[in-house]
Amino acid sequence: MARRLSAVVVGAGVGGLAAAARLAHAGLDVQVLEQTAGPGGRCAQLQLDGHTFDMGPTILLMPEVVERTFQALGRRMEDYLRLRRCDPNYRVHFGDGSSLTFTSELTRMGAELERLEPGSFARFLEFLALGRVQYRTSLDQFVGRNFDHLGQFLTPASLRGIFRARAHRRLYSVASRFFRDDRLRAAMTFQTMYLGISPYQAPAVYGLLPFSELGVGIWFPEGGLHALPRALERLAREVGVRLSYRTAVRSITFEGKRATGVKLEDGTEVAADLVLCNADLPWAYRNLIDPGVTRLRRAEKLRYTSSGYMLYLGLDRRVPELGHHNVFLGGDYRGSFEDIFERFRVPADPSFYVAVASRTDPSLAPEGRDGLYVLVPVPRQHPSLDWATLGPTVRARVFARLREEGLDLERHVVAERVFTPDDWASRFSLEHGSAFGLSHHFFQVGPFRPPNQDPTVRNLFFVGASTQPGTGLPTVMLSAELVVERMRREAASLGARLAPAPRLGPEVMA
Ligand SMILES: Cc1cc2nc3c(=O)[nH]c(=O)nc-3n(C[C@H](O)[C@H](O)[C@H](O)COP(=O)(O)OP(=O)(O)OC[C@H]3O[C@@H](n4cnc5c(N)ncnc54)[C@H](O)[C@@H]3O)c2cc1C
Repeated sequence: MARRLSAVVVGAGVGGLAAAARLAHAGLDVQVLEQTAGPGGRCAQLQLDGHTFDMGPTILLMPEVVERTFQALGRRMEDYLRLRRCDPNYRVHFGDGSSLTFTSELTRMGAELERLEPGSFARFLEFLALGRVQYRTSLDQFVGRNFDHLGQFLTPASLRGIFRARAHRRLYSVASRFFRDDRLRAAMTFQTMYLGISPYQAPAVYGLLPFSELGVGIWFPEGGLHALPRALERLAREVGVRLSYRTAVRSITFEGKRATGVKLEDGTEVAADLVLCNADLPWAYRNLIDPGVTRLRRAEKLRYTSSGYMLYLGLDRRVPELGHHNVFLGGDYRGSFEDIFERFRVPADPSFYVAVASRTDPSLAPEGRDGLYVLVPVPRQHPSLDWATLGPTVRARVFARLREEGLDLERHVVAERVFTPDDWASRFSLEHGSAFGLSHHFFQVGPFRPPNQDPTVRNLFFVGASTQPGTGLPTVMLSAELVVERMRREAASLGARLAPAPRLGPEVMA
């Protein structure tokens, strides 16, 4: 008789939870072990003086990708997660005092663009049309599939896709062909910072981001982004996944070239037929895996995303001047990316993002007050960066810029929590405190990104931001879908009889 196989999942991030639910639904006995006190990893929640803050993600793109997990388990996403569309999407404030409101309402968007660069609206529509092609092509050919070998990537169809999506060119230079005004060039490219990469380095295919925001929308779950891992946790429990929090894994155990389970910090051993690691992949190879058994190829050559210096601020008043999503771009756009990614310096005049989640969901702040989530993109950890001294300078700069915009907010702060790259590294075990994991430049995407199945230890798998296909919530949900496909294959080769693979949900829109 076919044996029921077991899987142990290290980490209850969005990727770990989505994969665990899918595996249990397929018929495996699944256990998730998470070192922190709750689900979500980077998508955790912070309660502060009556305010509820998301710690990491604040924007949900491509909800139809999230929906596929619920559909695959025969559920309806809306029974777990209530999504609201944010429109206007956000306002971008430029260093010269001007601003641009992004909205999917095309007449208003057109008027906004024409105000900054006459004639730009028609070119913006062309830019969006290219973004749509990039969106489709990257989902079909690069992001939504497993690669078993490089040959699958180098087919004539893929190469055509690379050229069609401009994956071989840099985003900033492609956007510059559509817009002359530096402000618009910045406004159409800064979105790569959602992935922690510079628009000067990012493949132009990430023009899909503005398209996705305006064409498919920016979404926000009621209760905040943390509602997503909560929904996945509920789904996972319903299909029989066992979850243990405050349970840190010290190492993955092996017998020859097979993983046999994990050893916990307290010395307990947990045996499993399959091991799925949701801990950040490069961190896991360095800390949980015996390099004598298997190691990460090209580890020293890998490039990382930026990090975030965070302020979670409870105010004693509302700030009606701010919408839900606000972007403040600093001066010297190009120089600021060189500072972050090449010189490992905090830019003198940094750009930053401010979210006021209670604009969309008033339950997230006490009556008559607002909570500000401030994210300043900064370099990942580097020996030259000491956050004890740098932090107060960056904080002061944020309040100074807000004052320049007419927002005198520092004296209204009544509760505050700071989170630095060092905190990202230590709380969630992120290699170099890199907030988004491994970078997404051309040679770290598709089949070039570390694979979700170890090449030597075939029952050791990875899910999450630093494996294929990449970072960001929808992509990590796809990562769960892709790794489960591989794990099903391995389980079948071990003699498991699994529930049939779910039929995929409807085609991703757009
Ligand atoms: C500041 C910030 C803003 C972001 N904004 C957005 C956004 O707006 N939209 C978006 O789509 N994405 C955003 N992202 C990216 C998104 O958060 C990540 O891509 C995604 O959450 C990563 O999920 P993951 O499954 O890879 O795992 P993680 O969130 O990294 O979870 C891994 C889990 O493994 C646990 N773990 C690690 N080691 C061990 C161990 N030894 N034992 C037990 N448990 C362990 C960790 O504690 C963690 O809970 C943002 C990220 C950050 C940091």
